[in-house]
Amino acid sequence: MDDFDPYFDPAWGSATQAIRTGHARTHEREHSEPIYPTSSYVFASAAEAAATFGGERQGNIYSRFTNPTVRTFEQRLAALEGGESCVATASGMAAILATCMGVLQAGDHLVSSASIFGSTVVLFNKYLGRFGIDTSYVPLTDLEAWERAIQPNTKLLFIETPSNPLTDTGDIRALAELAHRKGCLLAVDNCFCTPILQQPLALGADIVIHSATKYLDGQGRCMGGAVVGDAKTVGEDVFGVLRTAGPTLSPFNAWVFLKGLETLKIRMAAHSANATALASWLEQQSGVERVYYPGLSSHPQYALAQTQQSAPGGILSFQVAGGREGAWRVIDSTRMLSITANLGDAKTTITHPATTTHGRLSDQERDAAGITQGLVRVAVGLEDVVDIQNDLARGLAG
Ligand SMILES: *Cc1c(COP(=O)(O)O)cnc(C)c1O
Repeated sequence: MDDFDPYFDPAWGSATQAIRTGHARTHEREHSEPIYPTSSYVFASAAEAAATFGGERQGNIYSRFTNPTVRTFEQRLAALEGGESCVATASGMAAILATCMGVLQAGDHLVSSASIFGSTVVLFNKYLGRFGIDTSYVPLTDLEAWERAIQPNTKLLFIETPSNPLTDTGDIRALAELAHRKGCLLAVDNCFCTPILQQPLALGADIVIHSATKYLDGQGRCMGGAVVGDAKTVGEDVFGVLRTAGPTLSPFNAWVFLKGLETLKIRMAAHSANATALASWLEQQSGVERVYYPGLSSHPQYALAQTQQSAPGGILSFQVAGGREGAWRVIDSTRMLSITANLGDAKTTITHPATTTHGRLSDQERDAAGITQGLVRVAVGLEDVVDIQNDLARGLAG
């Protein structure tokens, strides 16, 4: 042990964890976390190699499953989510796949919120289905429907909250209680809130999933993902999938996410403040029929959101008059906002869910989900909010 070895304290607040946890300083005494672009590691002797491979000695073996930069990111995110273990992955989708492969087997059943990321639906239906795992979909906020959908072979409940794009808020405490009463695990995709705004494990969930591509990066640069939970489910079962199947996060991307995490708390506060100001302003605009944002008292789960999120987050959507034509006019009249479906970036992005992210749904499915042709989604960035308002006002006025 070196006197310069960094000190970590589990009692630290989230800003401190996000800046300091997980970096084991080397003999070079570097201040910023190093990147280790190495595929393998050297042993002092054949006996040491044998002991490390055999698990009697802790140590790096091969970067598919042991890399110091990736481990720093995993330890930092585990501390932020309040979990025992974290497994980083090559993307958010790889995190969801590794979770399902780690906890499910052929013949199992999964109950999912109907309002989840489009590729997650394809993963469940087309790919898990092929390996004998069936999925039922229920409305996020209908607790009775969740209870009815659970079968004797149900092993996993899966949600995102708030939902995309309508920001419905699911009751994590109630769903965790239901899951455990029925012998299931609850997994929460915490991409929209990040651990700064919502800590699903503290509310009773078993597994937290991230697309690090979004707010953890924060500037739209790298792909990555992570799974957080207990030492058995994540540290052994999900880790075993990563070690064997190899959807591994690169050390460079892990380093970018470490730098992103250092500013996560101030960014999430700023995203929430900008989105709150924009949502209130949109509610006053004559061309806007309805605004969906958990920070508005008009939101159907406003009270619930207040109890499980520390701030409403950066995503909102709104419905304009004039259907698709009206929505496209707002989008096409912007000059600054980026027309892209990505989110969690310092740059504000705008998208038309009905013809992009939710374009694969039938008209009937889309209507049932409430995703009308007049709906516009904005992932509010960190620009001056008045400039975002001015950019949107042009198309709303027309
Ligand atoms: C983007 C996203 C994913 C998938 O993450 P990738 O990093 O793109 O693979 C999963 N869930 C949610 C909610 C997302 O927004």
